[in-house]
Amino acid sequence: GLTLILSTHLARSYHHLFPLRNWVEVPWAEAARSTACFSCQSPFPEPPKANKEKGKDEAAPAKAPAKGVSESGRYKCQVCDHHFCIDCDVFAHMVIHNCPGCQSQSQQAAAAAAPLTDGVEANGNGHTTNGGMMAIDG
Ligand SMILES: [Zn+2]
Ligand SMILES: [Zn+2]
Repeated sequence: GLTLILSTHLARSYHHLFPLRNWVEVPWAEAARSTACFSCQSPFPEPPKANKEKGKDEAAPAKAPAKGVSESGRYKCQVCDHHFCIDCDVFAHMVIHNCPGCQSQSQQAAAAAAPLTDGVEANGNGHTTNGGMMAIDG
């Protein structure tokens, strides 16, 4: 008999073959260019003020961020370069298997490219040669 294949099954295998690439932690130096998550618009923590604290040995022991956790609260997709929060990171990789930034970019690209596909078709038509007529004078 026929095996019914649901589109969700195909989507699942697709995501298995092409997993969404992990997002990378955004360092504070790069964090200033974004103020909110690109996907859910939740505000990011502001970069620490550049006030020179001379008691550096005092703050040193507390700074031991867990590996894989972004100190700036931002996670960047290396493809589209957008910043996201941890919640959207988890949601994108565990649930929807898509990058909201990449998806919106591809939609914009498709919309921009759509008008260009018209008007290309006329090339190669209009075959007008007079080779069929042969004048014979006797
Ligand atoms: Zn978010
Ligand atoms: Zn992306």
